[in-house]
Amino acid sequence: MLIAALSGPQLRTLFLTLAFVVGFTTSAQAEQPIKLYQVSSGVLQMDKGWLTAMLDVGKMIKVPVAMYIIDHPRGLVLYDTGNNVAVSDGKCESHWGKLCKAFQPIQKRNEVIDKWLEKFGYKVEDVKYVILSHMHLDHAGNMEMFPNATHVVQKVEMKTAWWPEKYQASAFVMGDFDDARDFNYLQLEGDYDLFGDGTIVVLDTKGHTQGHQSVMVKLKNTGTLFLAGDAVYTPDNEAGVVPGITWNAYESMRSIDRLKNLRDVHQGELWYSHGIEQYGQHKHDSAYD
Ligand SMILES: [Zn+2]
Repeated sequence: MLIAALSGPQLRTLFLTLAFVVGFTTSAQAEQPIKLYQVSSGVLQMDKGWLTAMLDVGKMIKVPVAMYIIDHPRGLVLYDTGNNVAVSDGKCESHWGKLCKAFQPIQKRNEVIDKWLEKFGYKVEDVKYVILSHMHLDHAGNMEMFPNATHVVQKVEMKTAWWPEKYQASAFVMGDFDDARDFNYLQLEGDYDLFGDGTIVVLDTKGHTQGHQSVMVKLKNTGTLFLAGDAVYTPDNEAGVVPGITWNAYESMRSIDRLKNLRDVHQGELWYSHGIEQYGQHKHDSAYD
């Protein structure tokens, strides 16, 4: 009614004002810095040989289980979701069964991803995208906490998880995703620039599993980070030691080389999923920007 009552020049002024406001808001949003939090789903205690084939086999180590909360102006993003909440506070058996002995998780309830989100002022419902490096038990464990998010997974990884090869089956826990068949998936076949602005780019790093993927994140002050996921567990793998658990050693080593080369070209940093020394050097109670 109001618009109908306006004359031609008045309408033009109104539309120009609206265009300015919308344009200003959009550019203001684009200038908001991206924030990234690195947190851990407790620790796993395991034989180092799981991570480094033929090196330090039999040596027991404790490793973090890295997860990332990335606050982008166009949506809150997670990279990995950690160990299932049921594994918390010593109650492993009911969810992981005999895998509890192999990985011996120590996870307090407040180290589960929903509690980390809460700590930094977000709600579970705020998460728009869940990027899964792969669907093993320590990465896809809490994907069912996010039924309204879009889950970004390599298509081949979904097939691998839901119907794994026998020799790979034990590291996929069906209870982590048995109710997730009807979720909204962005099924990838290769690399993908999530927001089309080059700031969060999913990278195909197959090898650990058939559909493993890493993420490149460009931060204004920190620089370019390569979140390796399980493509590179530790500095040993970066230095050439074949990862202990791997679907395809050839592809694993190609993916490690790919990440190292990209890291060098972008003068960035490579962040490991289970590297305890590096994790200890990072901050975890506030954001990188
Ligand atoms: Zn892992």
